Amino acid sequence: MALEFRTGVGYDSHRFTEGRALILGGVRVPHDRGLAGHSDADIVLHALTDALLGAIAQGDIGTHFPPSDPQWKDAASTRFLAHAVGLARDQGYTVVNADCVVVLQRPKLAPHREAIRSSVAAILGVELDRIGFKAKTAEGLGPVGEEQGAECHAVVTVRRDG
Ligand code: MG
Repeated sequence: MALEFRTGVGYDSHRFTEGRALILGGVRVPHDRGLAGHSDADIVLHALTDALLGAIAQGDIGTHFPPSDPQWKDAASTRFLAHAVGLARDQGYTVVNADCVVVLQRPKLAPHREAIRSSVAAILGVELDRIGFKAKTAEGLGPVGEEQGAECHAVVTVRRDG
């Protein structure tokens, strides 16, 4: 079997709501609101999970962790990404790198960038220099610009040695 590289793309969005913690990339980010969802609504880990599942053609986060299943209520999304890493390993794939872009107006994520990168690197089992993380505002445009929610886009590349 030859050396093989595969890339997957992922996307997620959740609404802001009162009375929940804001968890991004497995890191609690201080804010006056959090994201609503069945699990902890971590858009970064959800987008990365879908990207990794896409790279190995194993469906999406909803097929592996149905929101209708009560066992995933308020679940830490670290479990979802760790599960995808396990599926990839089972097929002989290791993560090469991951990159993600969060879009939200507030709060500023720059002070939390390194903590989020470290958290994601640990879950994916790779060195810190293989993890990209960027945050952008929506320049006030659309629902994200009006602070109704936040989005994350992600790509993950994996390799399998022949
Ligand atoms: Mg989600």
